[in-house]
Amino acid sequence: MLILISDAFDKNLPRQLEKYGEVTDDHNRLAEAETVLIRSKTKVTKEYIDSAPNLKLVIRGGVGLDNVDIPYAKSKGIDVFNTADASTIAVAELAFALMISLPNHVTRADSTMRRKTWAKKELKRSELFGKTLGILGLGRIGSAVAIRAKAFGMRVIAYDPYVYFSDAAAMNPDIDEVLAQSDYVSMHMPATDETKGMINAERLAKFKDGAYLINTGRGKCVVEEDIAAALGSGKLAGYGNDVWYSDPPDWNSPLLDAPNCILAPHIGASSKENMGRIGTIVEAIISKHVAQK
Ligand code: NAD
Repeated sequence: MLILISDAFDKNLPRQLEKYGEVTDDHNRLAEAETVLIRSKTKVTKEYIDSAPNLKLVIRGGVGLDNVDIPYAKSKGIDVFNTADASTIAVAELAFALMISLPNHVTRADSTMRRKTWAKKELKRSELFGKTLGILGLGRIGSAVAIRAKAFGMRVIAYDPYVYFSDAAAMNPDIDEVLAQSDYVSMHMPATDETKGMINAERLAKFKDGAYLINTGRGKCVVEEDIAAALGSGKLAGYGNDVWYSDPPDWNSPLLDAPNCILAPHIGASSKENMGRIGTIVEAIISKHVAQK
C-alpha cells in the first residue's frame, strides 16, 4: 500500500506508518496512492479523486470534512475519516487564549512597549470573572470552552439547535436572547448552509454593546465586513479570530485593518500535542483498514 501524506502532519508520522506500507509526500504519486492523508490544504474534489484510481482511504487530520467531496468519494468506494476528537483541547485553549487576551489588551500592551510608549493609562483592562459567556455550537470544543470558563467564574449559556441539555452550559433555544445576555460570545459551529453568514449586521445589532466575539469555528459563519463595521463603531469591543473565508485569506479582508482584533492564521489545531494525537488516530484508522482487507 502507498500512503501519500499530502499536507503537514507530525514529523514522526511517516516512521509510525512504515509498517503498513510505503509512505511518501510526493504529490506526483497520487495515481498510485491507496491512502491519502490530508489536513485543510488539499481539496479532495471530483477531479482529485478521478486522478487517484487506486484510492481507498482518505483521512483528514482535523475536525471538518468540508474539503472532501464525500458523496463522490463514497460513490467510488473510498472511505473517508477525520480525527475529530483529537483537536478539542487545542482549539478550546486557543479560543480561551483569545478571550483572555482581548480584554487584557495583551497584544496592544506588547506592541506599545516595543514602540517605547508607556500606555498605562490607555490600557484599562476588564476581567472575565462574573461575566456571561454565550457559546454558539455546544459540541466537543464549545463544551471544553464552557468548562474552562466556569473555572474563571463566568456564567455560561449556549445556543445550539441540536443540543437540548448540557451540564456544561445553560441552553437557550433563542440565539438572540443568548447574544443579548453575553459579554463574550464564542463560536464553535461548523460551516453549513444554516450557519454561513450567521453573524451578520442584523445579528450583531442583537449583541450587548461592547461585547467581545471569538471565532475559532469557521470563517464563513461571519460576514467580515459587518464584523469590521461593528468593531469600528464600538458595538463590538474586540474580535479574536482564527478562521477565514479561505486559507490564507484575501489580504484585502476588512478585518486586517479593523481595530481591536487579534488575528491568527488558522492555528487552532496546531498544538504539538494535537499533532501527536492526530498521528495516533490516523495510525489506528489505517491499522483497521489493513486488518479488514
Ligand atoms: P462538534 O460537531 O462536536 O460541535 C459542533 C456543534 O455545532 C454541534 O453541537 C452542532 O449541533 C452545533 N451546530 C450545528 N449547527 C448549528 C447552528 N446552526 N447553530 C449553533 N450550533 C450549531 O464539533 P467540534 O469538534 O466541537 O468542532 C466545532 C467546529 O470547530 C468545527 O465544525 C470546525 O468548524 C471548528 N474547528 C476549528 C479548528 C481551528 O483550527 N480553528 C479546528 C477544529 C475545528
